[in-house]
Amino acid sequence: MYQEFFETKIEFLKGVGPKRAEVLKKEFGIEKFGDLIQHYPFRYVDRTRIYRISEVNELMQYIQVKGKITNVTSVGKLRATRLVAKLKDDSGSMELVWFRGITYMREFLKAGTEYIVFGKPTMFQNQLNLIHPEIEESSEAHETINTSLQAYYLSTEKSKTKGIDSKAILRFQRQLYHRLQSEAVAETLPESILNTFNLVSRKTALLQIHFPPDEQSLARAQFRLKFEELFFLQLKLLRMKWLRSEKPGGKIFKNVGEIFNDFYRHHLPFSLTDAQKKVLREIRHDCGSGKQMNRLLQGDVGSGKTIVAFMSMLLAADNGFQSCLMAPTEILALQHFQTISRLAAGLNMQVALLTGSTRSKERSAIAQALNNGSLHFLIGTHALIEEDVRLFNPGLVVIDEQHRFGVEQRARLWQRDDVHPHVLVMTATPIPRTLAMTFYGDLDVSVIDELPPGRKPVITRHIFESQRLKLNGFLKQQIRSGRQVFIVYPLIEESEKLDFKNLEEGYSSVCRDFPMPEFYTSIIHGRMKPADREAEMKRFAEGKTQIMVATTVIEVGVDIPNASVMVVESAERFGLSQLHQLRGRVGRGARQSYCILISGNKLSDEARERLRTMVRTQDGFEIAEVDLKLRGPGDIQGTRQSGLPELKIADIARDAPILSLARTAAEQILRTDPHLQLPHHVMLPRLMSEFEKTARRWEKVS
Ligand code: ADP
Ligand code: MG
Repeated sequence: MYQEFFETKIEFLKGVGPKRAEVLKKEFGIEKFGDLIQHYPFRYVDRTRIYRISEVNELMQYIQVKGKITNVTSVGKLRATRLVAKLKDDSGSMELVWFRGITYMREFLKAGTEYIVFGKPTMFQNQLNLIHPEIEESSEAHETINTSLQAYYLSTEKSKTKGIDSKAILRFQRQLYHRLQSEAVAETLPESILNTFNLVSRKTALLQIHFPPDEQSLARAQFRLKFEELFFLQLKLLRMKWLRSEKPGGKIFKNVGEIFNDFYRHHLPFSLTDAQKKVLREIRHDCGSGKQMNRLLQGDVGSGKTIVAFMSMLLAADNGFQSCLMAPTEILALQHFQTISRLAAGLNMQVALLTGSTRSKERSAIAQALNNGSLHFLIGTHALIEEDVRLFNPGLVVIDEQHRFGVEQRARLWQRDDVHPHVLVMTATPIPRTLAMTFYGDLDVSVIDELPPGRKPVITRHIFESQRLKLNGFLKQQIRSGRQVFIVYPLIEESEKLDFKNLEEGYSSVCRDFPMPEFYTSIIHGRMKPADREAEMKRFAEGKTQIMVATTVIEVGVDIPNASVMVVESAERFGLSQLHQLRGRVGRGARQSYCILISGNKLSDEARERLRTMVRTQDGFEIAEVDLKLRGPGDIQGTRQSGLPELKIADIARDAPILSLARTAAEQILRTDPHLQLPHHVMLPRLMSEFEKTARRWEKVS
């Protein structure tokens, strides 16, 4: 990168031109040679192997056969809806089928000509098929670079209609390959690292990732590029952490004073678990150290993070500092406000709530109280950042459910002052270690690994629609014994209209099946005004309604200890971590709680595995690991919104070992040369930001 060759505009590649350049830019963000080279293949197929048709069966993945087309027929009454061509070799025959592009294919296919055909075999009416196979005349199939593994590239529906499919991209790559061979490619990794980890040169890797001569070279090219990507990410995170620790003048909380002790001795509503105590000690240590604290507090749902946050805020108050706590939703902010007001009741502390719907009169009152220092704790939503709220003397910022806030946003909060306040981010989404290292590598991590005593595991069942009558009977019995029930419907953006209809119909049928005046039902969803939502939430919290029909707006944080049943409708449509969060809404009191997952009868393997996992375990970390395996890291709830770079080639789920090596390498370098000033390190800061710039970003922050 940074080199003229890599900076060359993609239009200048033969066969691209302005029109295709536009498509490449729009669909893939490819503008320069360097971008195209980093559009890595997602799959490789051994194209040297040509099967005999008689060897092929429908259990095989992609295969390649060679044969002659014997006849071509269109099927369909008025208009051809399907084109079927018979392909024969000396061992047998199979059918090639097209549903689209029929006119074109009918022109293209010549009976009697020999073709090489590539596709995934399927069985239809006892006949072996390749549907929409790739096909080329065998006489033309040889203009390739000497490789046995053919690369496949991601393309989009749009790009394909504009003629840019995997094959077209391969053609572009082939040209780049020829040109790159005569270029000198600057190395990005220090030689010591290349040697220690036995890495191939950057140039070799970039050539062979697209045209691997064999499996082994491919593996080495992949290793090198993944290592490099993870190395620069780790270097950046570790350096941020290091620079912060260098920086003098964190706010010092040296007193464990009156307020903290008063609360601890006289107002603590329960005794803390050992895990809570341990984390509090870690926080006290950080805050007293003279350096800014940046700590991630992980604790499974219901592990009691709130009280830890609150007591940390007391510590700040004891030392004359204000604190704020930010939550991702208004409901959650309100709930924190209520909890903290309740906890602070006997302490003579001032608490205020600031969200998007706070009235302007109250806003100015809050601003004033912040300014004159009379307000101790400010609880709120994004509004805290967006509206440029100024704490008079901010000591501690607590961010709940961290994944909803982008890293950039976090940074904005603490970059207001010269001396940054301490930051505690709390998340209930257990993050596998490898992910935590990648995404939160700049933070120290504390874990609450113990639930408050007396919690009974939530009994979890997976049932089908046919068992609904029985379920309703069970719910009635629970409600009659004084409990409350959540019923959650999916609301997925893409099918919002339909989902919304389901939710409303679901609500009606609940009202019908659970009639007033014996039963009262609440409903909340994202389309309601925040004030209405809060009113409903309050009714439910006060026990005036027994059933809460909702979307996942209740997913995080809501604490209603009396609720003992969580029913999830269309549970197969939820992700694992979402299901785990939802289940976490019950089982908070000492009573037996239940989580009922209702699904349709037809389940994909993945959905079945998700539901099975939920029934099998309640361990958030175990669930997170399964989630990571099933979905890959890009989809793990929240990381998508974390504002961190998407990786181009490394895969956190699979490449954990490489990540560890890369981190070790980054640590080694920073240990010997923390300022990256040695001659063979001076290029690193620039490369670090280069890597970051070229990585695609998830912009969306909910
Ligand atoms: P989360 O970590 O999910 O935010 P909360 O802080 O909301 O969990 O705590 C869950 C519930 O457990 C709350 O009702 C809280 O009062 C209670 N709780 C927290 N710590 C303890 C403890 N040490 N002993 C008993 N109950 C506790
Ligand atoms: Mg919480």
